[in-house]
Amino acid sequence: MSILVVGSVAFDSVETPFGQVEEVLGGSGTFFSASASFFTEVKLVAVVGEDFPPEHLEFLRQRKVDLAGLQTAPGRTFRWKGRYGFDLNEAHTLDTQLNVFESFSPRLPAGYEDSEFVFLANIDPELQLEVLQQVRHPRLIACDTMNFWISGKREALLRTLARVDALVINEAEVRQLAGEPGLVKAARAVLAMGPKTLIVKRGEYGVLMFTEHSTFAAPAFPLEEVFDPTGAGDTFAGGLIGHLAATRNLTEAGLRKAIVFGSVMASFTVEDFSLNRLRTVSWADIEARYRTVKLLTDFEGLD
Ligand code: AMP
Repeated sequence: MSILVVGSVAFDSVETPFGQVEEVLGGSGTFFSASASFFTEVKLVAVVGEDFPPEHLEFLRQRKVDLAGLQTAPGRTFRWKGRYGFDLNEAHTLDTQLNVFESFSPRLPAGYEDSEFVFLANIDPELQLEVLQQVRHPRLIACDTMNFWISGKREALLRTLARVDALVINEAEVRQLAGEPGLVKAARAVLAMGPKTLIVKRGEYGVLMFTEHSTFAAPAFPLEEVFDPTGAGDTFAGGLIGHLAATRNLTEAGLRKAIVFGSVMASFTVEDFSLNRLRTVSWADIEARYRTVKLLTDFEGLD
């Protein structure tokens, strides 16, 4: 089952304690699509400027990402500049240039409106809503966002949240969105905004999932070295939604398994800048890490 995703396609400039890069391929839609493409077909809705190089499009095509909904508009591609200190869990945004996204109006190509799995990657919540208005009967709508939109477009974001099944955001964003420092209390407040499932990304500490009736914790894959966390969240979401769409299993058990696949995918992205690691990872690598994470928290099956 294929996934429809709307999100940013970007040039990222990133500084970490281990190095820096200028204007490399990035964007929430890009990381999500590349990651989800290991599990199922992906249809990407986004816009790039005339400065976007064909080799980046070629990479996405090689990953079998459907680019019929990717427009090229006059102007410059979206740009994001960020810095990480030794606490790699926290990105400091230095600059955001929306550029062609400022006047972007997503129009779904024929057939896209029947998509059953929809992911609203981190982008202007008004664009997320515009895409939602064009899809007919989705089985699952999941959504991501960030501090930039929580403070800048709160009203539109709340309208989007009222319509989504699952929200996938990081811990600081849960607290910010709820205006509540306690994570569990904040999670309850966010669930009351609409989503039935809240998935909280906690960087190297893993993931928490909250529903009305259950709480689940999954560890992150224990990496020796994290090089650049940019895109970890979007890559996580790609593995998560990719696995859900491939299995069509939306039960609690299906969600838990998909979360672990999401964590595994993110563990590759953070090993290098940009999408470099996702270019070389194999299905055997993914399965090996999945088995490792599965054993990480097994404290009863070893007797
Ligand atoms: P993350 O997975 O949270 O590390 O997301 C990083 C990606 O989000 C980068 O590749 C950026 O290009 C993209 N990004 C950063 N800020 C924004 C924004 N305000 N809207 C859309 N995408 C963004």
